[in-house]
Amino acid sequence: MDIVTRDAHTISRRQISENALKVLYRLSKSGYKAYLVGGGVRDILLGMEPKDFDVVTNATPEEIKKLFRNSRLVGRRFRLAHIVFGRDVIEVATFRGHHGETDDKISKSNAEGRLLRDNVYGEIDEDAERRDFTINALYYDISDYSIHSYGGGIRDLDDRTIRLIGDPETRYREDPVRMLRAVRFATKLDMSIESKTAEPINALAPLLKDIPAARMYEEVLKLFFAGKAKANYDMMRDFGLFQPLFPQISALIKEQPNGNTAKMLNAVMTNTDLRVSQDKPVTPAFFYAALLWYPLKQRADDIALESGLSHYDAHVAAMGDVMEQQCRTISIPRRFSTPAKDIWQLQLRLERSQGTRAFKLLEHPKFRAAYDLLLLRGEAEGGNIGKIATWWKSFVEADETERSDIAKSSNKKGPSRNRNAHQRKRRRPKPKSDNSGSSEVKPTNKG
Ligand code: ATP
Ligand code: MG
Repeated sequence: MDIVTRDAHTISRRQISENALKVLYRLSKSGYKAYLVGGGVRDILLGMEPKDFDVVTNATPEEIKKLFRNSRLVGRRFRLAHIVFGRDVIEVATFRGHHGETDDKISKSNAEGRLLRDNVYGEIDEDAERRDFTINALYYDISDYSIHSYGGGIRDLDDRTIRLIGDPETRYREDPVRMLRAVRFATKLDMSIESKTAEPINALAPLLKDIPAARMYEEVLKLFFAGKAKANYDMMRDFGLFQPLFPQISALIKEQPNGNTAKMLNAVMTNTDLRVSQDKPVTPAFFYAALLWYPLKQRADDIALESGLSHYDAHVAAMGDVMEQQCRTISIPRRFSTPAKDIWQLQLRLERSQGTRAFKLLEHPKFRAAYDLLLLRGEAEGGNIGKIATWWKSFVEADETERSDIAKSSNKKGPSRNRNAHQRKRRRPKPKSDNSGSSEVKPTNKG
């Protein structure tokens, strides 16, 4: 262990959030040890702004609970306390210890070595060994403002090296998500993964399949919504980490390494990074809709071929299938999967509604997202979809009067397609298919 005294490092209390300081001081004044740890220390030392502040102490969760009225105990796998200050939450963990011969209620792992429960408490040096990377095992001591560095964390920070603490294979088996964290920190901090830390990843990547889908959802957000989506995607593919999480997409890319799916993935990742850098909102609904578009088309084609369903009905059936399959590895909350399906359905309408009906589509709450996906498809595919995307682009970018002209002129080109569409739509009897619930977006003039 190395100690860096307060005059020999750059962390000042001004860089630590007021709430984190309050928690640290309260613990310390009550006679407990209290440290800032993890990303908070690491990022400040690197001159970056920490995303959140994590505190660690020798007080047990119950003792923490007694000390802070605004606290609640959370977690099963890792029990810890959340101290709540309005919207700000400071996570306070108790030093974790080694696993001796303890009972199942306290610590437990499965046949692959994955830790299912880890609630053995210990001392700070044991806690440091239970952390993932050396750069994350830096502790800022509130009692004397020194930094305690374990396993060479400070040195690795200077050398810009991601190094797992302990035996890499064992540590990945305990928690396969550490493989994704290695990638995420490498891209976020612009560091290299040390060779012993990188070496086992390819072989162990399939272990990601067993991680609960709810946890994976959170990890995927951190990977793709923090401005480094493209870099993480590329590195995940190199390490074989993308396939177990997105099997449907990977299958198509494997078939055609430079096909539409591959192009779509690159475009979505790059666009997401651009939006994040411009402080524009990004939503999992659009992200998953775009990523899974070609798997959806493939599935729809298969269903149409097998069952003889219409193009439209096969498309609707495939939406459920593809989303359900993806949710086996990454559980996408309904508030995102439902609008993702809207975006998918709107693709069919966008493909058909050039003309006066286009005005109606503009008002759809998911129009903008659906239009953005159409543009990406146009770029990936060219051809007919490319032409349709170009038409929509000119329509969307035009002012009101120009829009009417554009709409009318395409009505002339395809008169049977769009004329009186509204009237016909209203009079149309309910279709008798299983999917009648979604007849609202059924094209009125197929064939
Ligand atoms: P960021 O918050 O920027 O994503 P972080 O390092 O703070 O990075 P957190 O997920 O907030 O990451 O975790 C806080 C600390 O807890 C980490 O720095 C690390 O010491 C420890 N930790 C988190 N996840 C794991 C894990 N899967 N295995 C071992 N230690 C972990
Ligand atoms: Mg953190």
